[in-house]
Amino acid sequence: MSVWEDIVGQKGAVGIFQAAAVSARELRQTDKDGGDSGSLARKMSQAWLITGPPGAGRSVAALAFAAALQCEDSQIAGCGCCPGCQRVLKNTHPDVKVVTTERLIIKMEEIASLVTLAQQAPAGGKWRVILLEDADRMVERTSNLLLKAIEEPPPRTVWLLCTTQPGDVLPTIRSRCRHVALVTPPVSQVAELLVEKEGADPVTARRAAALSQCHIGVAKSLVRDETELARRHDILLSAVTTSSVAQAVLLAQKLVEAAKTDASERAAKKDQAELDELHRSLGYGQEGSRLPPALKAQETALKADQKRRATRYVRDSLDRVLLNLLGFYRDVYLLQSGAKVPLINVDLSQTIDSVAQGSTPQRTLRRLDAIRTARRRLAANVTPLLTMEAMMMDLRQ
Ligand SMILES: [Zn+2]
Repeated sequence: MSVWEDIVGQKGAVGIFQAAAVSARELRQTDKDGGDSGSLARKMSQAWLITGPPGAGRSVAALAFAAALQCEDSQIAGCGCCPGCQRVLKNTHPDVKVVTTERLIIKMEEIASLVTLAQQAPAGGKWRVILLEDADRMVERTSNLLLKAIEEPPPRTVWLLCTTQPGDVLPTIRSRCRHVALVTPPVSQVAELLVEKEGADPVTARRAAALSQCHIGVAKSLVRDETELARRHDILLSAVTTSSVAQAVLLAQKLVEAAKTDASERAAKKDQAELDELHRSLGYGQEGSRLPPALKAQETALKADQKRRATRYVRDSLDRVLLNLLGFYRDVYLLQSGAKVPLINVDLSQTIDSVAQGSTPQRTLRRLDAIRTARRRLAANVTPLLTMEAMMMDLRQ
């Protein structure tokens, strides 16, 4: 067992991290012995930019690297079994801070507190690791604060920044980081993972891997929940067979409503737990306690945060629909252009056939463009309903 086992189809990236983790150990030893650590320091960077398509496993890879840096095994860096590795993987290591953001934007204060944290020497004497999962979700002023921290890190602090593309962060940050690019893992390896870790049968595993377009999280949810496969099928089918304006508008509304229901179900549990936790921490809710005056303001702030998170959930949910549509028209285009590539949507081959025959490759390219435009608009905070309506009009038969 090792920390690298759960990383699917990323041989190149894993090799880089493994080598860096080994250099990191030697560097600590050389420092202790008072030797010259110049060449080792070049192999072990203190700022990393880890990029890759959604679902390729950026956070998993970054966490594995963090574990390898804290590993206590004398033979391999990243054994996966020692207390150091285990604590990092369970997210309880005192020297590893993982920042996941549920909001659209990371606040200036959050980065400021991380910058302060980065100045502290690691409690365990190895490395202080700060892992930022969505390093692109900040405004320029906040990015500049982060840049300053990355430029002059204390000797034992390591920043791991994850984003989809290198262009998502400021060029000045990019140039300070060592870049590791993850790739889309192959269908066969994602399917293998689903068989091994989720206990899926090989046929379902392969289908889910193909349908998810190798998004590991989506593929897992597809094998865990068969209704999700059916739902996905229904949405696609109605989207690609819509012909009238009225139908298109109605479907856009339905999609946005469904995304909202989805999002509120996802958020409901978390929201209540967070509210309970806040009340507890303020001493409210215990027997004989009185509502503290500070409660109202804190509760209002929490609720505002939760509202922003709900907005993000709605966008995430719609984006999954858009990715499915992209996959569908990609299949249509491949069929029209006669390419001998396996279809993603094997379960919709008849519909793909009829759409391919009823349109031209140029029309399909325009539809693909319409979907990409919709994704860009959603990312840029355009109202979901307007975005989906405009796209559905463009997709009509
Ligand atoms: Zn270990």
